Amino acid sequence: MKYESVSAPYTCPQCNASQKIVHALSFDSTGVRSASSFTCLNCGSSFEADDRGVPPEWKPLFYAANGHWELIVVNAGLRKVDLLRKLREVLGLELAATSALSRRIPGRIADGTRVEMEFLKCELQSLGAVMEVVSIKSGGD
Ligand SMILES: [Zn+2]
Repeated sequence: MKYESVSAPYTCPQCNASQKIVHALSFDSTGVRSASSFTCLNCGSSFEADDRGVPPEWKPLFYAANGHWELIVVNAGLRKVDLLRKLREVLGLELAATSALSRRIPGRIADGTRVEMEFLKCELQSLGAVMEVVSIKSGGD
């Protein structure tokens, strides 16, 4: 899954009508991207915006709509050192945090939106680790 989106209540900046805005997350080899798209059904005003990374205020919206996900390293493979180096780079971790992470393998190493976890998995896959992206909420509500 390389794309997910949510809609959220949004007040039109032009006419103050209560409308909806669509926030989307996607990723490619350069990282996770965020995009917003708004069109007012009342006055026709619209805009689009995009950025890198996930705005922190979006996370609860995505968790509510699409679930909260985690990345589990089932087996680090033969290149655990490379795996940790890559994780440190992608997640921007301190050395101490990286060694704490090392002790959690095999196990959960990160959590976030589904696109974030899929991106991480994609980044790490070439290093030979066996990983799973799973929903933290066991679903079925
Ligand atoms: Zn409007």
